[in-house]
Amino acid sequence: MYEFLGITLVLAMLLTVNAVATAAAAGVWHLLKRLFMNCSARTMAELLFAMRIGPPAIALVWIAAFMIPSYLVYEPYHTDEFVSKKLGTLAAISAVGIACAIWRGVRSWWATRSLLKSWLTNSTRIEIEGLTVPAYRMVHKFPIIAVVGTFRPRLFVAEHVLASLTQDELAAALAHEYGHMAAHDNLKRSLLRASRAALLIIPCGRSLDRAWAEAAEAAADEHAAQKSSDVALNLASALVRIAKLIPTQERPVMPSSSLRPFSCTPASRSYSRRAASSINGASTSSIRAPRGRWRTAC
Ligand SMILES: [Zn+2]
Repeated sequence: MYEFLGITLVLAMLLTVNAVATAAAAGVWHLLKRLFMNCSARTMAELLFAMRIGPPAIALVWIAAFMIPSYLVYEPYHTDEFVSKKLGTLAAISAVGIACAIWRGVRSWWATRSLLKSWLTNSTRIEIEGLTVPAYRMVHKFPIIAVVGTFRPRLFVAEHVLASLTQDELAAALAHEYGHMAAHDNLKRSLLRASRAALLIIPCGRSLDRAWAEAAEAAADEHAAQKSSDVALNLASALVRIAKLIPTQERPVMPSSSLRPFSCTPASRSYSRRAASSINGASTSSIRAPRGRWRTAC
């Protein structure tokens, strides 16, 4: 009973602290997000990531540093305490959530591995000047430019994208991808997905996930556009060209650990917003781009 009670308490506490802290973080975000409007997109993305990952991290640290040692020291081995229905239910939900997170992580890794294998088989290695990661050209109905892989990133570009973009537009699009790689967005996306699965049916934190995804895209745009006003304009131009290549009524199959600036959203709304934001930034970045400009891409 001693070990069973301890495990039950740990599971219940993990879910409770994670859910309550995540709900609190989401509430704080909704209340204070207007205050962050003047932050850069990168700052906003990092803030959102911290607010989303902070709660489960705090729960794990608190349990490991305080709860387990206290239980081992103060709880008598031959305890008379028993697991109540409420505690048991919480612990069961928590255990299923952890199992779901592990399952989703394994399934996601396997699906990514399979699709990556398929893409590598059907693509051709290419050299792109200035690019420091392996790049591949492939035939795909969607206008894909995607960085795949968390620790060994590879860049895949659809052939019709290469044919459609000018050299400068392609360079601007790649600068956007470097923004994602510099921020380790693939790794962050995987952690967020696992964290969401661990909360199971408890819906708190999803608004933070969506806000982070938008901020991460805006931050990658910002990373590219801050190089110069020309890069900003070329990125806007690339977004418009790519948007025109997106087939309607279909969704692409993408590796879960990929970043897909130009293929994740079939609707053109996000592209037009991001293109407008790039042009907006370009008009001022020749002097000095205000850090808050890029927020409008969210
Ligand atoms: Zn992107």
